[in-house]
Amino acid sequence: MDEFGLIDTFVAQFKVAASPRGPGDDCALIPRQGPSVVTTDALVEGIHFTRQFTFEDIGHKALAVNLSDLASMGAKPTWFTVALGLPEDLTATHLKKLGRGMSALAKAHGAELVGGNVTRSSQLSITITASGTLDGKPLLRSGARPGDALYVSGPLGDAAAGLEGLNPLTPAQRRPTPHLAFGQHARRLCSAAIDVSDGLAQDLTHLCRASRVAAELDSAALPLSDALLDYAGSRRSALPYALTGGEDYVLLVAVRRPRAFEAAMAKAGFAAEQIGWLRSGTGVKLDGVPMRGRLGFKHR
Ligand SMILES: [Mg+2]
Repeated sequence: MDEFGLIDTFVAQFKVAASPRGPGDDCALIPRQGPSVVTTDALVEGIHFTRQFTFEDIGHKALAVNLSDLASMGAKPTWFTVALGLPEDLTATHLKKLGRGMSALAKAHGAELVGGNVTRSSQLSITITASGTLDGKPLLRSGARPGDALYVSGPLGDAAAGLEGLNPLTPAQRRPTPHLAFGQHARRLCSAAIDVSDGLAQDLTHLCRASRVAAELDSAALPLSDALLDYAGSRRSALPYALTGGEDYVLLVAVRRPRAFEAAMAKAGFAAEQIGWLRSGTGVKLDGVPMRGRLGFKHR
């Protein structure tokens, strides 16, 4: 199939607007939409996924990691573009599945495919640029202050355990859920946020550096799923997954008024688990001991 046939096959999996609002012209025409955010992220075969993933998984995850960045700013997704690098062995059926996995997630969050590119490549790669709108001020990494409480929007470590062959945690690795509703809801109640893509310790370090604060984590407070506890055998052996395993795509937020935050999030039906505090200074401590060495999980 030629390049144009491949593009048509892929685009047919999405509900798209006519050109120039959607794909089909040299550029997509985006109406003015007030303050907006833009992010870009690539998934590359052999680095971020293998063919053990289904093509639906790959399509889902490529968009999910971008939507997670929008979530961390408290934005609502609007449009995205997709640049595909396709190896010779990739068939129209593969591409259809890739598009299907991606379009299901796009539809669930109101994100619209507006354009993209297809090229031949030595391995499969999917590069997405996604944009979202903000209803007010964005949530940044840099807004936290000493004394703020730290919360996460969901369990940690599942995705890293899901990398270790087929196990009950595999879906967490292959089909991460971007916490968009949490981000939009928490935006006004938080001082800073980041999504946990590289691992809690690493991403917390990013937030601390941006906000010029130190952090104290309480290991007993880290939310761990029953599936991870079962898989790891004990809380102690599950902790490394939670601390340095990446790709959980939960949100890590700093909160100035913890009680009001907890009440508002509980009322709206969101889980928010307090895992520590921010202090003045630098660095991240776990149970009072500075975390050193390898903080983050390198993707595959
Ligand atoms: Mg991020």
